[in-house]
Amino acid sequence: MAITMCCWRCNADRPLLTDEEYQQVFRVSFMEQIRKYREETGMGLRQAQTDVGAAALATYERITGFKENNPFALYHHRLSLYGPPCDKCGKPLRTPAANFCAACSAPRRHANV
Ligand SMILES: [Zn+2]
Ligand SMILES: [Zn+2]
Repeated sequence: MAITMCCWRCNADRPLLTDEEYQQVFRVSFMEQIRKYREETGMGLRQAQTDVGAAALATYERITGFKENNPFALYHHRLSLYGPPCDKCGKPLRTPAANFCAACSAPRRHANV
């Protein structure tokens, strides 16, 4: 299940994809898909971006129920980019390397073994 949280890049609530769901949206990278699509169809870059983007957006909508308009935004709507959840407030830290929580500014407790 995709988790909805406030995407600080879009500055709005967006469902974020787990890695598994992300694989469904982008089996290979967006640019790679566009390159292949152009090879197969001879489409211009703009048209290829629109077509490949529409397919990615449709998959995203099927998984999350949310209608996103910008295929490039899907790139960062990926839960693993947001790092582990904060110990204190449970919100994902904004990056996997974050040292403190952007929401409540609690320092990150590194789970060292
Ligand atoms: Zn976003
Ligand atoms: Zn926090």
